[in-house]
Amino acid sequence: MLESILRDIDPVISDILNQSLDSKNISIKQAIELFQTTGTEMIMTAMVADNLRRKAVGDNVTFVINRNINFTNVCIKRCGFCAYSRDFRNEESYFLPTEEVVRRAKEAWNLGATEICIQAGLPPKMDGFLYVDICKAIKNELPNIHIHAFSPEEIMYGSYRSGLSVKEYLRMLKESGLGSLPGTAAEILDQDVRDLISPGRITVADWINVITTAHKLKIPTTSTIMYGHVETMEDRARHLDLLRSIQKQTNGFTEFVPLSFVHKEAPMYNHNLVKGIAPGPTGQDVIKMHAVSRIMLNNFINNIQVSWVKEGARMSQLLLEAGVNDFGGTLINESISTSAGSEFGQLMRPKEIRSLIQSAGRVPAQRNSVYGIIKVYDGINDKSESLLDSAETTQFGSYHELIKLDKFRYKRTK
Ligand code: SF4
Repeated sequence: MLESILRDIDPVISDILNQSLDSKNISIKQAIELFQTTGTEMIMTAMVADNLRRKAVGDNVTFVINRNINFTNVCIKRCGFCAYSRDFRNEESYFLPTEEVVRRAKEAWNLGATEICIQAGLPPKMDGFLYVDICKAIKNELPNIHIHAFSPEEIMYGSYRSGLSVKEYLRMLKESGLGSLPGTAAEILDQDVRDLISPGRITVADWINVITTAHKLKIPTTSTIMYGHVETMEDRARHLDLLRSIQKQTNGFTEFVPLSFVHKEAPMYNHNLVKGIAPGPTGQDVIKMHAVSRIMLNNFINNIQVSWVKEGARMSQLLLEAGVNDFGGTLINESISTSAGSEFGQLMRPKEIRSLIQSAGRVPAQRNSVYGIIKVYDGINDKSESLLDSAETTQFGSYHELIKLDKFRYKRTK
């Protein structure tokens, strides 16, 4: 059926999509053509992505039960898109001591979480071994939990503050229990775009160095893009091509996650700091970003994740038809998108995720952090619940409560 519809559309797009269906890699130029499709050509791009997804990973849609712990919002940098960071003197600054990080991890583990995801700001004069101490403290109490933590930006900061090389620092973190790195801080991997939206942020070269060094040390990472601001279609295609070439060398990426730019509270949007900045991607852009990612990364990165925090429940469910096979995590305490004005909440319970997947005609499967399957919900009558499904949410606290609490107010180190 797909082949017969492809005969009736724009021949350039038809050729690219047929090439993809034959498992051949598409070029940057061809990816740009797909990013520019509208109407039937756009729908066909999504359908081809869906077909490739089915061939690559089948009908399971995976998710992980995890908790985000963003232990401080104090940061020395001022990325233009970031509404989360605060100056150390700010009355909304906070810092969770390591005992509180461990308490939150234990609470999540007791409710069935298998992963703790830790990312935070870069506090001034940070003890260079803080990340190491956090990993050790968590593993001391919870030896079997997976620690997915520290973006390449944080790894660079930890390496600088500790006086160790990136390689030595990553090795020490791995020995202390770090399981994988989030491939965030990527935004658009083009130095000119980065210099516009976040001057002073980790460079493209440093991002690649941290990621490939981690992969060589057998520390897997995820990969991301933040799109819908000032980047061009070519920037998006080049970003995907770069990830594809890294994966060819290292095979260390577990997944790719497109992240829509959330503009509402972003300083560079609110204060008009960057000329021509868009208020996030359009709905069509979001569909094409996921579909083209599946097509371009096909044969390289099998797992395309939707971020429900960015897209909401309904759009996330729709994206399952455009190449997506992973629903991400329950998160419990999402803070970074929430602070930027995202309206989709800080927690999605496993039963909500399962219900969205099932009503899209697919099969929910709980996974671990590196895509090992824990449980497949394939029985029609499988109503088994996770402990997190019935947990009282007030016990977790919210981001908006946290920034008002004196108990965790940031205290400057001398
Ligand atoms: S994105 Fe990260 S490094 Fe940049 S200002 Fe925000 S917390 Fe700091």
